[in-house]
Amino acid sequence: MASTTTPQTGLVALIFCKTALQIQNDDPLQSITSNLTTALQPLFPTLTPTTATTTRYLDASATTARVLELTLPTTGPSPSLPECTAATHSPALAALQAQNSWNLVLQPLELYRSHSQPGLAVFDMDSTLIQQEVIDELARAVGCYDQVAAITEAAMRGEAPYADFEASLRARVGLLRGVPVGVWEDLKKGVISFTPGAAELVKVLRGLGWKTAVLSGGFTPLAVWVKETLGLDYAFANHLVADEGRGVLTGELVEGMPIIHAEKKRELLLRLAGENGIPAERCVAVGDGSNDLLMMGAAGLGVAFNAKPKVQLAAPARLNGESLLDVVHVLGYERGEVEKFL
Ligand SMILES: [Mg+2]
Repeated sequence: MASTTTPQTGLVALIFCKTALQIQNDDPLQSITSNLTTALQPLFPTLTPTTATTTRYLDASATTARVLELTLPTTGPSPSLPECTAATHSPALAALQAQNSWNLVLQPLELYRSHSQPGLAVFDMDSTLIQQEVIDELARAVGCYDQVAAITEAAMRGEAPYADFEASLRARVGLLRGVPVGVWEDLKKGVISFTPGAAELVKVLRGLGWKTAVLSGGFTPLAVWVKETLGLDYAFANHLVADEGRGVLTGELVEGMPIIHAEKKRELLLRLAGENGIPAERCVAVGDGSNDLLMMGAAGLGVAFNAKPKVQLAAPARLNGESLLDVVHVLGYERGEVEKFL
């Protein structure tokens, strides 16, 4: 019998299916593997013949599965992560994903395997760990939603002076002058909801020994609450000045405290990695906005979760789905390893 050798170089393709596949009687794995490898071969000429591909389901129950892992060995070095990202958005793979309602994540084999060692996972807060944009909810609470939204949109269109994150943040925060400080409690109690799977994901990562952080361009009262509620190790966000006597926000940011913009998120990721003795390659960054792209680039793997279309295209990997817990499968953990911690 031929001995099976573990490939040292290659490509890992993860398929996240929108609806679960029935795997009990007529297992679709073979036809899916064949369709995908046929599409991958012209994009990665060093892939060895399809017979060398190994497959497994990462989330299988007795009858269904939704997440498939294909390991395709290469002759010579593994493709780079940018090559994987480009291939994901190539016309051939974009068509295959659209036809089958798949979300593909491609990674170099060595990177994929490195996630089995616990690293550092950092998360954006608004529209990533939680489902809201906190500044919008603050603005709504005091009836200036339209003005804040107009600045947000101008910023997204890159219009001066709001193309600069700090300028746009200061302008929007200025509109929050007079907001009662009790607004945080109202938001926590009735407005803010966690993204499905966020609590489970943090629980599993912590169980596996990962360090975790929220790096937010939002505000500390919420980011600290998110950290405490989910059990994250770190929280960084912007500091608003409160007039304690009047019990209201002044519409200013605390002088001397750093503004958490894209570059600061990147810096914090590298700092936390350094402090914990974790190489940047073993960091994962998850977010939905363009100000998350720098930290995604500094991490070994960046994942755009239910992100804006431009961010999905620019991020190393993307995940569109209902549950943030799917990030565990992007890291290669399978159901049995995950459920131990839930
Ligand atoms: Mg966000």
